[in-house]
Amino acid sequence: MNELIGKCPKCRTSYFGYALTNPPRQNCSKCGSSLEISKNGIPVMVFSGYFAPVENKIGR
Ligand SMILES: [Zn+2]
Repeated sequence: MNELIGKCPKCRTSYFGYALTNPPRQNCSKCGSSLEISKNGIPVMVFSGYFAPVENKIGR
């Protein structure tokens, strides 16, 4: 599984898929809040075109 999920903390709208790796897609299209993005249930920071776990476990 390789699922990116973005959730709006305000209006709780969910977004799915790798479009979330694009910074313009990291804001809720309804209310404009920054989405909380997670991958496989783990919160991630998304940068332009790639993402990294928020927690301090860096794989390599
Ligand atoms: Zn929203």
